[in-house]
Amino acid sequence: MKIKFLGGAEEVGRLAIKMDFGGSSVMVDYGLIPEKPPEYPLPPEKVDGVFLTHSHLDHAGSLPVYFNKYDSSFYATLMTANSIRPMLEDTIKIANLEGYTKMFNHDDVSQLYSSFVPVNYGDADSIKDLDFQAFNAGHIPGSTMWKFTNGSEYLVTGDLYTRDTNLLTGAQPVKAENLIVESTYAGKNHEDRQKVIDRLRSRIREVIGTGGKVILPTFAVGRTQELIMILADMGYNIYVDGMGNTITGIYLHTPGFFRSGSEFKKAIKKTVPIRNQRERLEAKNADIIITTSGMLDGGPVLSHIRGLLDDDKSAIFITGYQVEGTNGRSLLENGTLNIDGSSVRPKMKVEFFDLSAHAGHDDLIKFIDAVNPKRVILCHGEMREKLLEDLANYEVILPYNGNVLEFS
Ligand SMILES: [Zn+2]
Ligand SMILES: [Zn+2]
Repeated sequence: MKIKFLGGAEEVGRLAIKMDFGGSSVMVDYGLIPEKPPEYPLPPEKVDGVFLTHSHLDHAGSLPVYFNKYDSSFYATLMTANSIRPMLEDTIKIANLEGYTKMFNHDDVSQLYSSFVPVNYGDADSIKDLDFQAFNAGHIPGSTMWKFTNGSEYLVTGDLYTRDTNLLTGAQPVKAENLIVESTYAGKNHEDRQKVIDRLRSRIREVIGTGGKVILPTFAVGRTQELIMILADMGYNIYVDGMGNTITGIYLHTPGFFRSGSEFKKAIKKTVPIRNQRERLEAKNADIIITTSGMLDGGPVLSHIRGLLDDDKSAIFITGYQVEGTNGRSLLENGTLNIDGSSVRPKMKVEFFDLSAHAGHDDLIKFIDAVNPKRVILCHGEMREKLLEDLANYEVILPYNGNVLEFS
């Protein structure tokens, strides 16, 4: 048995894991780091099956690069497969706009879909002598943990969240002898989610009560829809702008992945989608605008903020992790934003609310203990060693990109 991380071992981004079981081989995820320009994993290696955990670009963003070079079946939930298409097309569009070298084209994206095999949670199937099964990972709609069995069992979590949210049911542990688990929040715990939600709602009430508007810069996949669920019943005019609307449309047509599909539909109906520049300008009576990009590096969010820069009654509330070097991080740390090449200091209120969809430190430990593996392989984290003390009873491996791990 050999495991090689082509990316994402010691970093939060471009996850790509090649697993060679002797008679058969698979690759789990093939992502990118969505920087300018994007950073890619090591070159793809031919496998018998490509498995995707979920539709975030750091897991899915380079998949067409594989299909440009090799052919294999592509396994994912229908929700994941449906959600990545607009993201991949957008990646090509951005490369064209910014003049980056394109690593794949529209034909490669189509090739991915002609190789697609849908898998539902609980489904079991096999490739040659390798059995595999899909389980809910609780991170975003359609997110999947993959269990592979060939004599020994291997569970790969992808991004993991173990608690229920307004949108999703948390991941349940699955017994396995070997566990490859993400570690984004090693050493950190989240504030209780319900408390964060209560605080967000009460701050929104205060801002709107004094005549301000609330801008929520938000990731298109998962977070946009969760925020809609959290805020829809407040009785405010909620507008939704950007790629989040495309993803919501896909979610509505791909039922079966939510805690409550009917509650999701009800919440969506209470919001107004913005589809073009004219509707954007007309969104004057919005109280709340939920819009991409989540890290304020582009997308309609900046045009909404531009009109409110001097309005100290209005607010920008950030609910997602802001990567170093992004506009969002600069706003949180220095109070400044780069808009059209110049640095501006909005007078608006700026606050952070931790609605992370990654398991915090204690939840990771609880999950690992319940899986009860012999061996734990930690990836997708920059502070992995912070978990070591609490994992003293296991054989723990901290791989690096390009290393080949060998087990008997
Ligand atoms: Zn993710
Ligand atoms: Zn991730």
